[in-house]
Amino acid sequence: TANRVPNFSAGPATIPTAVLERAQNELLDWQGRGMSVMEVSHRSKEYVAITEDAEAKLRSLMDIPDNYKVLFLQGGASLQFSAIPLNLLKDGRADYLTTGAWSGKAVKEAKRYADLGLGTVNEVATGKDSNFTDVPAQSDWSVSEDAAYFHYCANETIHGLQIFEPPQVNAPLIADMSSCILSQPIDVSKFGMIYAGAQKNIGPAGLIIVIIREDLLGQASEWCPLLMNYEHQAEKESMSNTPATYSWYLAGLVFDWLEAQGGVEAIYKVNQQKADLLYQTIDDSSFYNNPVAPEYRSIMNVPFTLADSSLDKVFLAESEAAGLMNLKGHRDVGGMRASIYNAVSLEWVQKLVDFMIAFEKKHA
Ligand code: PMP
Repeated sequence: TANRVPNFSAGPATIPTAVLERAQNELLDWQGRGMSVMEVSHRSKEYVAITEDAEAKLRSLMDIPDNYKVLFLQGGASLQFSAIPLNLLKDGRADYLTTGAWSGKAVKEAKRYADLGLGTVNEVATGKDSNFTDVPAQSDWSVSEDAAYFHYCANETIHGLQIFEPPQVNAPLIADMSSCILSQPIDVSKFGMIYAGAQKNIGPAGLIIVIIREDLLGQASEWCPLLMNYEHQAEKESMSNTPATYSWYLAGLVFDWLEAQGGVEAIYKVNQQKADLLYQTIDDSSFYNNPVAPEYRSIMNVPFTLADSSLDKVFLAESEAAGLMNLKGHRDVGGMRASIYNAVSLEWVQKLVDFMIAFEKKHA
């Protein structure tokens, strides 16, 4: 479609054109029923089939073992910052690693429950001293001996810092994968729980996916709201109340699309090419800079600054004029940020890189 522009939004992010076209085709008359998916009961046989299909596709794409439940919930990844301590802290101790804005919010929210007497929250380390451009060495972490869980953020969307290998700790690992789920193969069995908001690699906002090992269910605090209780939602097939039906349907279409691309292994290769191209362009010039330690550079979110920040506005105006959208960086980091999720093609990244090189020539 001619007027779809390269969109580097951090989230809600671009959705594959083919998915939107399919949704458009099915919108008014889904499966010949004379109505859209949005207009049917979530309890209907046809809708339940959509949810079962979406779960089966996600299980296959991520190779999720049978002893994990997959929940499709609401409230965004941020609500999980509360749901996690409410479900899993009990009167125990939880470890949190802080590597940027999102893991910082998660530990802050967990501490509220600890302050109310729910348990103890221990920040094992923070990358604050490096402005979250690096991860403190694991030998410097103050890991608890008997933690109920260890929480970290696998990809810090704002700081562009990604932890590729799951930390090796004894406690069940809980990873916020909002901005990196489905971008590279992972071994789910290494995790106690994985969660991810949908609006980057999965589909529209309004949906959050929780993948949780069954033995972690059934430990919720009595204060945990019923709708946030993982065991309850697992029993109810994520339908304790009306789910985000259209977002769930669209997630299923995105899983179909990803399968057609060859799955996670195949998209990972493209993701690496995209990231390499962009980081190489940044590193080859003294005009652009990315401050993140090379081993932690995110392959999904690439923040970069201009040596002369007075050119920031010019860069944004000219890139927009060239049809390259949503490159403004987050206010906490400044400069630019290109989010290059699964639905951002190599071709789009090439256009961005061509623009960056031309911009440097013009303004350096
Ligand atoms: N975690 C990460 C890594 C994120 O990128 C975001 C959103 N950008 C969130 C959590 C919060 O997501 P939500 O706005 O859906 O609550």
